[in-house]
Amino acid sequence: MALPWLEEPLQQVLAQHRGHALLVCGTAGAGALEFLLRLSQAWLCEDRAAPSGPACGQCGSCRLFLSHAHPDFRLRVPEALAVARDIPVLLDERRKPSRQIRIDEIRQAMDWMTTTTGRGQGKVLALHPAEAMNAASASALLKTLEEPPAGARVVLSTADPGLLMPTIRSRCQMVRLPPPPRAQALAWLEQRGVEEAGVLLDGAGGMPLAALQWGVEGLSAETWRALPQAVAAGDAGPLLGWPIPRVLDALQKLCHDAGCHIAGGRGRFFPADKWPAGASLQRLAQWHKSLQSIMAHAEHPWSEALLIESLVAQGRSVWHPEPERRGGRLATA
Ligand SMILES: [Zn+2]
Repeated sequence: MALPWLEEPLQQVLAQHRGHALLVCGTAGAGALEFLLRLSQAWLCEDRAAPSGPACGQCGSCRLFLSHAHPDFRLRVPEALAVARDIPVLLDERRKPSRQIRIDEIRQAMDWMTTTTGRGQGKVLALHPAEAMNAASASALLKTLEEPPAGARVVLSTADPGLLMPTIRSRCQMVRLPPPPRAQALAWLEQRGVEEAGVLLDGAGGMPLAALQWGVEGLSAETWRALPQAVAAGDAGPLLGWPIPRVLDALQKLCHDAGCHIAGGRGRFFPADKWPAGASLQRLAQWHKSLQSIMAHAEHPWSEALLIESLVAQGRSVWHPEPERRGGRLATA
């Protein structure tokens, strides 16, 4: 999939980056994984037109790379992501696909890096996202970042460098993927038939791949646009069936925009038309706090429907407070 907003940053990194360890800061929704792949392919390409040019896409190395069979390239992603993105990995059928990059996967990659290269252009290990490594995996990687085998490169991506061990950060050269320019992202989504692309793009925080994925999964601009009204009315219906992390993300965005509206401004994630009135800052702050504490346990095996119902009931109370209780009894008007 061609992502036009990656072209310029890719060219810059190819022209300027000379180290053996690179940390790319950018989100999956902006194409961080695609960036890692394009960069790795270019480093391994045997027929680039210019030293800072992109991969040719035709040579033997490029063909092996594109068919997931390059002997000098290894990609490490969490198994759950590999399954979702159709990346070929060996899975252990006896357990659930892991959400972490496990230490044995890192150790295997380290052993592989010390063997001789297959095609003579060096080796590339790509890890996405680096925050999916637990402390043990990250420690195992450190040694290679300190003393890499000759000709070996490691490229990692992260949505937030603050989530990584400082020792990992300090051993990598860092580059930031700029957010895709809005016009380019919109044109790209429209080319793919996404309707009301602007609404979904705003909802996804300007990240076109995330907006496209929402469309693929059946989340329409219409549903997104109506979400503030639905939550204010206590209707959890539109959110049922969404994965919990996305529900939490959507409600946090709603919280953010509600705060903007109370302050007399505009929101960032939802269209301003049909915005529900009557929220209070104090009740909003309580809801926000409660969402944050649930976020901290997002991996907890919640009963999804019940959790969503209760989150929306809390959301509703931001706009429609429960009658105050006095002396343990409901106050009557
Ligand atoms: Zn090539």
